[in-house]
Amino acid sequence: MEKNIFQRIIDREIPATIEYEDDEIIAIRDIAPSAPIHVLIIPKRAITSINSTDESDVETIGRVFLVARDLAKSFGISESGYRVVTNINSDGGQTVPHLHFHLLGGQPLGRMNSTHASGHGTGSPYRGTLREAGILILCAIGLAIGFNMMNSKSISWVKKEYDKVTATSNDLNKYLTSPANSPSTTTPSTPTTPNTAVPVESEDSKKTDPATTAAAKPAPVQEKPSFVAEPGVVKEITYDQFSRLMASAPYYLIDARGAEKYAEGHIGNATNFYGAEAQARIPDMLANVPRDRVILIYCDGGECELSHHVADVLKQFGYGPIFIFTGGWAEWKTKH
Ligand code: AMP
Repeated sequence: MEKNIFQRIIDREIPATIEYEDDEIIAIRDIAPSAPIHVLIIPKRAITSINSTDESDVETIGRVFLVARDLAKSFGISESGYRVVTNINSDGGQTVPHLHFHLLGGQPLGRMNSTHASGHGTGSPYRGTLREAGILILCAIGLAIGFNMMNSKSISWVKKEYDKVTATSNDLNKYLTSPANSPSTTTPSTPTTPNTAVPVESEDSKKTDPATTAAAKPAPVQEKPSFVAEPGVVKEITYDQFSRLMASAPYYLIDARGAEKYAEGHIGNATNFYGAEAQARIPDMLANVPRDRVILIYCDGGECELSHHVADVLKQFGYGPIFIFTGGWAEWKTKH
């Protein structure tokens, strides 16, 4: 049976911001917080929900509330107030089938509204209607948020600002076999001699349409240049720099666009890791992205930040150097 996301966090297969941990309980920051403080307190035992608890869980669940109390204190919300809730099955809004408790606070959370509120006996004939209209608006907003979260092309609520550093020739030269012989006009289709590009083939890349990628097929491996890892280094590169790295550096190429665009055409032997799903694809990336290669990433070009999303995740796991080809697919297409 496939592990749920919390089990994978408990087993350290994917990262999380851990606020508390002991042998039985782990508390992590919610990845999509509903309040300024939103922590998930998760019993480590594989319990699906309150429905599957038994006598042996009484102590652990009791301790969940003590952990909530202590976390609330450490976040300074004990006095202002907070909420501890658990969702059960679909009507309860449970999305992860592993028992967990939401600790929410840091702002007024409002009352727990009844979905059966009708205004009967309130004294005002309009009050019920207004309340229902409010509920409808909230439902519509909830649906829109839910749709946005589930949509693979979702809009992020907070736009992350990335440090954008431009690579210099020196940043690149150490990875090029013969930098002096690699003119800036070199393209992957006309590699310098000897060509030492060492791309790593992926399963995805083998499905590539030859018509769209023939120009970028790397030449056979002749010699592997030495590779010096630079963990966490992310720099932006131009088309010429990208072309030089592809021609004579050991590289691993990532297309950070969505799967549909990737299927329509992509550069050379690129592997597709969609930037908007970078967090969810961490296990996949860790299993496939080599550490002894320069990582090259591109997306659409222009304002596209999907490459940075992927770079951000790889950076967290000590990959580097990572070079982002800012011109991306748009520029590549105009030149091939
Ligand atoms: P529920 O809807 O009650 O099952 O709550 C599941 C919660 O888990 C949601 O609030 C999600 O935002 C949160 N969540 C899902 N994946 C992760 C993750 N990888 N790290 C932290 N929180 C997550």
